[in-house]
Amino acid sequence: MPLPNLSSVRTAAARMAGIAHRTPVLTSRALNTRTGAGLFFKAEHLQRVGAFKFRGAVNAIAALDPEARARGVVAFSSGNHAQAIALAASLAGIPAVIVMPEDAPAMKIAATRGYGAEVVLYDRYTQDRNIIGAGLAADRGLTLIPPFNHLDVIIGQGTAALELFEETGPLDLLLAPVGGGGLISGSALVAAELSPGCKIVGVEPETGSDAQQSLKLGEIVTIPVPRTIADGAQTTALGSLTFPLMQKHVSQIVTVTDSQLVETMRLIAERMKQVIEPTGCLAAAAALQGAVEVAGKKVGVILSGGNIDITQFTALIARG
Ligand SMILES: *Cc1c(COP(=O)(O)O)cnc(C)c1O
Repeated sequence: MPLPNLSSVRTAAARMAGIAHRTPVLTSRALNTRTGAGLFFKAEHLQRVGAFKFRGAVNAIAALDPEARARGVVAFSSGNHAQAIALAASLAGIPAVIVMPEDAPAMKIAATRGYGAEVVLYDRYTQDRNIIGAGLAADRGLTLIPPFNHLDVIIGQGTAALELFEETGPLDLLLAPVGGGGLISGSALVAAELSPGCKIVGVEPETGSDAQQSLKLGEIVTIPVPRTIADGAQTTALGSLTFPLMQKHVSQIVTVTDSQLVETMRLIAERMKQVIEPTGCLAAAAALQGAVEVAGKKVGVILSGGNIDITQFTALIARG
C-alpha cells in the first residue's frame, strides 16, 4: 500500500459524501477575546453517531474488497467506535458484530443494537476479547476493524481536518485530542500538504500521557489504563501505524487535567451552547486553559465528540 497522503484523504472524502455530515466550523467572539487567538472549532460532536469515528468507519468499510465486505465486520469497543462501525455497516447493508463488555452502560449497548449491529457481550474480568473477536472472525469470515491502528481508519479520520482547512485556509496551529492517535495522524496528513507551516499539537489527559512519553523516548510506551473522565482517550499505547506518523508530523503533546476538561465543558456550553463529552474537550481545554500558547495565532481546534449522558454532563458541571 502506498504511503497515505492528502490524495488518500480526498478519496475518502469522496466516498463519504452524502453518508457522513460535513460538520460546521464554529467560532466564538468571547473565547477569541479570552485567549487573544482566532479559534476555529471543528464540530465533530455534530457528526453522525456524535463523533468523528464515523468517518474512519465509513472509509474502512468502503475500502474492503466486495467479498470481505459482504461477509461483514467485527469491532471491539464500548465507545464511539462501536456505534460508528454499527451505523456505517448498516448503511452499507452488511453485518456487523460488536464485542462489548457486559458491564458497558446499558444505554451504549442499546444504542449499538439500535444502529443494527449484533452485540456479543463478554466478561472483561474472565474472558479475552481478542480471542472472542478472532473466533468470530474465523467462524464467520468477518473483518476486524480496529479503532485507530488501521490505514483506512486513519485516512478516514483525516477528512475532518480536510473540511476544516478548506474552510479556514492555512492555520498556525492545529490542536487535536490523542487516544490511539488515529485522528491526529489523519489530520497531520492533510496539514502537511494544505498548510505546511501549521504546527500540530496533540492533547492527552494528564494521567494518560503515553503519547507524550512515546514521542520523547522515540518508542511506543505502554501505560496501565489511565483514570480520567476522558474515556475516549483511555488507551494504553499508540499503534504501530499511528506512532511513526506522529513522530513525523506532531511537534508536541500537551496534557490537561480532568478539572480543566470540566471547566472547558462548562465554558463551551455557556459561550457556544454546545454539549461536548470530556474526551471531545481535550483540544479545546489546551487552548482555553493555557496548556499551549495560542495568543496572536490562527488555531484549529477539533471538538471530537459529544456523547455524554445529559445527567452525567450536568453532574460534572455542578461539581466542577
Ligand atoms: C476515539 C476518540 C478520540 C481519540 O481518537 P484517536 O484516534 O484514538 O486518537 C478523541 N475523542 C473522541 C470523542 C473519541 O471518540
